Amino acid sequence: MAEVQEKGTISIHTENIFPIIKKFLYSDHEIFLRELVSNAVDATQKLRKLTSLGEYDGETGDVKIEVSFDKKKKTITVSDKGIGMTGEEIKKYINQIAFSGAAEFVEKFKDKTDAKDIIGKFGLGFYSSFMVADNVEIISRSYKVGADEGAKWVCDGSTAFELSATKKKTRGTDVILHINKDSEEFLDEWKLKGILEKYCKFLPVEIKFGTKEESIDDGVDADGKPKQKKITVDRIINNPAPLWIKAPADLKDEDYLNFYKELYPFSEDPLFWIHLNVDYPFNLTGVLYFPKVKNDFEMQKNKIQLYSRQVFITDEVKDVVPDFLMMLHGVLDSPDIPLNVSRSYLQSDASVKKISQHITKKVADKLAELFKKDRKDFEKKWDDINIFVKYGIISDEKFYDRAKDFALLKNVEGNYFTFDEYKEKVKASQTDKDSNVVFLYASDAGKQDSFIQAAKTKSYDVLLLDGILDNHFINTLEQKLEKVQIKRVDSETADKLIDKDEKMESVLSDEEKEQVKGVFEKAIANKNMTVTVESLSPEDLPVVITMSEFMRRMKDMSKMGGGGYSFMGTMPDNYNVAINGNHTIVQKILKAEEEQKTKLAKQAYDLALLSQNMLTGADLTNFIKRSVELVS
Ligand code: ADP
Repeated sequence: MAEVQEKGTISIHTENIFPIIKKFLYSDHEIFLRELVSNAVDATQKLRKLTSLGEYDGETGDVKIEVSFDKKKKTITVSDKGIGMTGEEIKKYINQIAFSGAAEFVEKFKDKTDAKDIIGKFGLGFYSSFMVADNVEIISRSYKVGADEGAKWVCDGSTAFELSATKKKTRGTDVILHINKDSEEFLDEWKLKGILEKYCKFLPVEIKFGTKEESIDDGVDADGKPKQKKITVDRIINNPAPLWIKAPADLKDEDYLNFYKELYPFSEDPLFWIHLNVDYPFNLTGVLYFPKVKNDFEMQKNKIQLYSRQVFITDEVKDVVPDFLMMLHGVLDSPDIPLNVSRSYLQSDASVKKISQHITKKVADKLAELFKKDRKDFEKKWDDINIFVKYGIISDEKFYDRAKDFALLKNVEGNYFTFDEYKEKVKASQTDKDSNVVFLYASDAGKQDSFIQAAKTKSYDVLLLDGILDNHFINTLEQKLEKVQIKRVDSETADKLIDKDEKMESVLSDEEKEQVKGVFEKAIANKNMTVTVESLSPEDLPVVITMSEFMRRMKDMSKMGGGGYSFMGTMPDNYNVAINGNHTIVQKILKAEEEQKTKLAKQAYDLALLSQNMLTGADLTNFIKRSVELVS
């Protein structure tokens, strides 16, 4: 071992900085590896730069970074072939600069708990190694000096260090961590590999971690058959040239699909993607994929990975990506996102806001382009993407302005319309007496079938809005579209759905109406059912049960926890029971004997309940009994 040339004390005001750093960084020990490998990458990139500027003409063929560990010696080593450091530089960069950063760090964040986010910002990267190591050695040889003129620095995590000259054959830096007792879990191949794959997967310099076996062709055997042999090769854990840094013009669909598989190995192919490439007024690259959204969409959140110059930072992209696009997949890479600062700061940061707006704009542009280019294909994708678009429309004014021209409404027949097209389509038959155009929709085509059919006989069109966001979407749409009202198809009897002046003649006198009402009220005997007698077409159903649009929406709001409506949730469901006074059964009831009157009314009412899946239990049993009686 070389003789120690210099012993010293790192001069900072804060004594014993390490206990503080250790305490703050406690929850995220594994990032030491990210920091050390990033430093190694920086040093290698600097060498590449010097070479390209003609300021260095030494050997630069193999600049692989190597991460290795020794379980017996309890060491982890990160070696690079970058620019290296002289002894003087180690003193300057590691002792002084890093420590002034550390002092500032401690000063600013001694009361904060989110300090782990701040680590890189104050040049503390290297010192994160003391979270896991008792002792750290740097053995380095600068590109500027000759063979063997290396420098060695040793520090035990106190402010004391030792610096000496040492022989080092190759250019670059080895950082050797002597792992402490509490961190021996890191002396494990799978653990280290996992960390490297998480943070270093797309770093721009090849990173070797161990070796692997590979089969290669080995000529032919005696029979002329091709032979293979196994060789041992470096195991490179990263892809130094990930797709997002390449020019879109050089990429094929297949490349995007392959990259998607690399990111999410077991996922279905995405629907389409957007390649982001901005360099002004901020820097942003990345690829965002539109996945096929499944119903469990909480599962699909937080799949976007955030990088800063190819270093993985986080997969919590809240604030950087607008809320409604959180279900997208892919990567974003921006050196402009202040990744190392706290959450609350991120929210108010101007460039983060701009990035978020830019992403919104790009997504809207892409959707508009797909819509324009191939409407039929866009319609095919609609069922998968409508959730993004609707979420965007609900939550983002600016997005609505762009989306209103390509967002689609689907009717129960499975045809698609833009908002304008749809208004135009139904205007003639679905305008009420106040000249509002009334859109009708079903939220469950199966359950509401009788109402859909009734609406159709009136030549009304019915939309299908049965998604999880559709309640909100309908509210937003009603606010945005002028003179448009949106009603669920079972909110009124078909006759009243669109309130027009023209009225059906009544075959009943007012007296008879009262009589019919009384019969039904007695038969139903339920105060939550309000009975009315209406003049519908004789072809319509004899009894129709509806819940008012207003009432239902209030209830939906209270279910979703909308403030102020919570009292609604505790109220019983109130229904309107419309008796079709023009139906022949009503004449029959009027003429029947007292006991038979109630029976017939009950039967007609139960049929209406049945058509809506509302007939259950004893009521259903009684209904079946009565039906058998009536037919026999
Ligand atoms: P940061 O990387 O944020 O600047 P660090 O504490 O990690 O802070 O490193 C401080 C400085 O030490 C770096 O800026 C760099 O100049 C130098 N350094 C660290 N690691 C290496 C390395 N592997 N090769 C060359 N220089 C390095």
